[in-house]
Amino acid sequence: MASRRKFVAGNWKMNGSLAANGELVNALSAALAGFNAADVAVCVPAPYLAQVGELVEKGGIALGAQNASEFAGGAYTGEVSCAMLKEFGVRYVIVGHSERRALFGEGNPQVAAKFAAVLAAGLTPILCVGETLAEREAGTTETVVAGQLDAVLALGADKLGAGVVAYEPVWAIGTGKTASTEEAQAVHAFIRGRVAAKSAAVASTLKILYGGSVKAANAQALFACADIDGGLVGGASLQAQEFAAICKAAA
Ligand code: PEP
Repeated sequence: MASRRKFVAGNWKMNGSLAANGELVNALSAALAGFNAADVAVCVPAPYLAQVGELVEKGGIALGAQNASEFAGGAYTGEVSCAMLKEFGVRYVIVGHSERRALFGEGNPQVAAKFAAVLAAGLTPILCVGETLAEREAGTTETVVAGQLDAVLALGADKLGAGVVAYEPVWAIGTGKTASTEEAQAVHAFIRGRVAAKSAAVASTLKILYGGSVKAANAQALFACADIDGGLVGGASLQAQEFAAICKAAA
């Protein structure tokens, strides 16, 4: 079995302020000083990329964005291109977060286009996939996740393998309800198996993160599952000590 270095990414969502970000990142950097057992990133709102980029520059925390345009530039008012993100030291970009899919109408083709644009800029996309509660109850979890995954796999297995996948059951995001380790592992194994059908080599090295109400109290059990390679953490990433504990659970 390929050994995959664990990765924990925080998703601040639309939270933060200049003052709060400074406190949070300084406390997180102090709590993670000398920690090197897993990769860590924080995905922050676009206006704060410059600030947070400077704060994390010398530490071991990578900078991420929460969204990017699929277009290179031009008449796309309100959008931010991958090249712009790169100028600010961004390494990771979340694409297809369930909030973007549900609230901003992003469908699989647009998410795949964003994934391709992020890669083309030399950045690493974090592709979010996951089913709603209604879809799980209807027994369509695998169909939904397969559709989300296949849209990106169609770019080529090697392209998917240059990114990271995050399985985030929508019913577990921000709800305090976490998927059980068995539920999460089953979907992670399904994702890896589907990628393996295209390329066993890509499947063995692909990082698949779990997201959905990850906390220090449940992180270790989730991260110990065979196909879970870390976490995408929303709410808990806004608390330095809690997020640091989650990162350490990945060690
Ligand atoms: C997320 O926003 O990707 C997420 C998983 O949120 P939370 O950890 O708050 O459920």
